[in-house]
Amino acid sequence: MPNQAKNNLMEKMISLCKRRGFVYPSSEIYGGMQAIYDYGHYGTLLKNNIRDAWWKAMVQMREDVVGLDSAIFMHPTTWIASGHVAGFNDPQVDCRKCKSRFRADHILEEFGISADKAPLEELNKHLEKLREEKKLKCANCGSTDLTPAKIFSLMVKSNIGSPTDELKEENVVYLRPETCGGIYLEYKNTVDSLHKKLPFGIAQVGKAFRNEIVARQFIFRTREFEQMEMQYFLHPSAMKEKYEMWKNIRWQWYLEYGIKRSEIHWYQHEKLAHYASEAFDIEYNFKTLGGFKEIEGIHARGNWDLSQHSKYSGVELDYFDEKTGEKFIPHIMETSVGLSRLVFMFLDQAYTEEKVGAEIRVVLKLDKRLAPMKAAVLPLSKKEELTAPAREIWNDLKRNFMVEYDETQSIGKRYRRQDEIGTPYCVTVDFETLKDKAVTVRNRDTMKQERIKIKELGKYLDKKLN
Ligand code: ATP
Repeated sequence: MPNQAKNNLMEKMISLCKRRGFVYPSSEIYGGMQAIYDYGHYGTLLKNNIRDAWWKAMVQMREDVVGLDSAIFMHPTTWIASGHVAGFNDPQVDCRKCKSRFRADHILEEFGISADKAPLEELNKHLEKLREEKKLKCANCGSTDLTPAKIFSLMVKSNIGSPTDELKEENVVYLRPETCGGIYLEYKNTVDSLHKKLPFGIAQVGKAFRNEIVARQFIFRTREFEQMEMQYFLHPSAMKEKYEMWKNIRWQWYLEYGIKRSEIHWYQHEKLAHYASEAFDIEYNFKTLGGFKEIEGIHARGNWDLSQHSKYSGVELDYFDEKTGEKFIPHIMETSVGLSRLVFMFLDQAYTEEKVGAEIRVVLKLDKRLAPMKAAVLPLSKKEELTAPAREIWNDLKRNFMVEYDETQSIGKRYRRQDEIGTPYCVTVDFETLKDKAVTVRNRDTMKQERIKIKELGKYLDKKLN
């Protein structure tokens, strides 16, 4: 997609998200905070629905996965044991002129050089070559005065519980950079309290924090975000089979919620972390970002995590298999996805512009189960004789569905607004309603209208929505 079209689409997306109450830049009245966003009414509803759809597939439908909600703050040794304090870095390049920051591997990517997780020396060698060839320029101001790559830690620090205000190595408590850390620490309690037998998984949804160097892609990459992770504990001999099983489960989940087969693909990591034996990402083809980008990682992590935490804590984290008499540290495979990134993916895929007569209709064609509002009840006029029965319908429906009532503006404008927030059904109460005790139900995608008896409306929506 040409850059101009991609940028226009991104601007339209950001504008729709703000205008219609999905996503706002955080702290806007104080000038904003880069790469931090707030979710408005519809954004929160959409995010919660995506979260619930994930939870349903990962926990509710399975007997081998249990849930967890661990704290954001953890003992600081957690992140030393996991290797994050020493190694959770990105390579940073600064523009000396305009002070913009870049990720060195992302700069190289633009030149077709794959440098994900490459050592600093290798990155600088590539950068130096580009500099000599006079190709290295600041993407913001065009200056050629860029620094060499240096290491930048992504860990976010706090002084929680510290008696001093000063942040020193001894009193630093990190905000978790990924949610799975809490899962590893609760592995033992889960086995002891729930008596789970291998293989089994622990799933959790929660906030994670990363001091990302560059964050210019709306909610794709933010410094505070939500992750949905599932860690599956198993005997190493089961890894191959279970890895394939989870790859398939996660792939099908995207198709089930309306992502087209042609819009996702697998990306296999060539360079693996030293403890990993396999790493695949699902990538989605973002219209707004102009190409395939990672949305979810599925990784085989060996027994690294539990071994490290056992070593640093001095607590035995072995599993005893009563059937075979074998004692071992379980291996882990994980599925890891950003909830906020999925919000962006579903918005990106749903955003549609259609020509209707002389006008362009903007509509979010979200899966009905994910749509923030399931229906809107709209009296044709503000006259009491219509608003009273319309409110009665709303009062009835709201017990079972997220439904809104709206009597402002013309009916055309109200349809337009509901299309833009992706509401699958608009229920219009008109003067005929008073005689035939029926309403007009308009379908978001086809714009076709049906006359439905009020007393059958709940059942009708239930059938259509589920
Ligand atoms: P990248 O290389 O893009 O920085 P990563 O490979 O380090 O990402 P993981 O640590 O594997 O990402 O994180 C798992 C998932 O969490 C990602 O697939 C993504 O959906 C989500 N995620 C990671 N970082 C962010 C972020 N800064 N903002 C939003 N979501 C994120």
